[in-house]
Amino acid sequence: MSDFNDASECRLSLRLRAPEGMLSADQLMVLGDVVRRHGIGFVRIVGRSGLEVPGIACEEIQTAKALLEASGLGTASEGGAGSSLSVCSGQGRCVSYFVDAGTLAMALSGLLESEAMPMPVRVAISGCAEACSCPQTADIGFVGIVEPILVRAECLGDGACVGACKEGALIMRRGLPRRDPQRCNFCGDCVAACGFNALRPARVGYTVYVGGKAGRRPCLGAELARFVPEEDAPEVAARVIGFVSERARPRETFGAVLRRIGLDALRSYAITRPSQRTRPQEMTP
Ligand code: SF4
Ligand code: SF4
Repeated sequence: MSDFNDASECRLSLRLRAPEGMLSADQLMVLGDVVRRHGIGFVRIVGRSGLEVPGIACEEIQTAKALLEASGLGTASEGGAGSSLSVCSGQGRCVSYFVDAGTLAMALSGLLESEAMPMPVRVAISGCAEACSCPQTADIGFVGIVEPILVRAECLGDGACVGACKEGALIMRRGLPRRDPQRCNFCGDCVAACGFNALRPARVGYTVYVGGKAGRRPCLGAELARFVPEEDAPEVAARVIGFVSERARPRETFGAVLRRIGLDALRSYAITRPSQRTRPQEMTP
């Protein structure tokens, strides 16, 4: 909740959280009703998949909150005040994904409501390297990635994969595509473009970024780990948040704690599997 800019009476804005960034038709009906009865006639769409109902009279805030929560809409004034979760369109709504960002979003939505968190934590999840939800500018960002592998016997050498690679990471040599691991960003476009199933996902997972932010002094998050398996991602997020929360000084932001304690200390605590600590091996010929 934040102060509404009217000195003559007490009014507040109510910030909403919707898991996966989606509202059902029924929730929209409830929201419309709350806005008509308790707000000033409109909803503001804010950053990080957020919605805000401005101009609610202070004495009506609890009533409005109760109505919204009964429909499954959380408010940002609950624990972890100011925390947010952004997620891309994802499975079923986007053709690019290899990793189901929505499943991870649902797993993390409860974690971000924890009363124990001493600071807001902004999490962003994208199902592919297009990174539509801007994970590199979040406190914790997840980007779905896929490592291609070539099954030589299936390759017809038509080069469709090379044409699909926007990074210039593939070239044809002796009739077969070859991948430059320094250029590859694990987007999987080549896998999707191969009509003969000769390029396949060797492994999928998330690249995890930490410490990114927009605003007055923007910076991109640092890479904490690559190819974190989907099933491990919720635990990695919980460990990162727990590690930072335990070491936070009063009023210190997530990014400030990270800069003070260093990435290596966080990595050795939060990333448990040896396979997540190393760069992937080059697997195409
Ligand atoms: S996965 Fe790598 S090689 Fe394939 S299209 Fe993406 S960047 Fe190019
Ligand atoms: S698109 Fe598939 S079949 Fe064609 S060259 Fe690439 S890997 Fe081979």
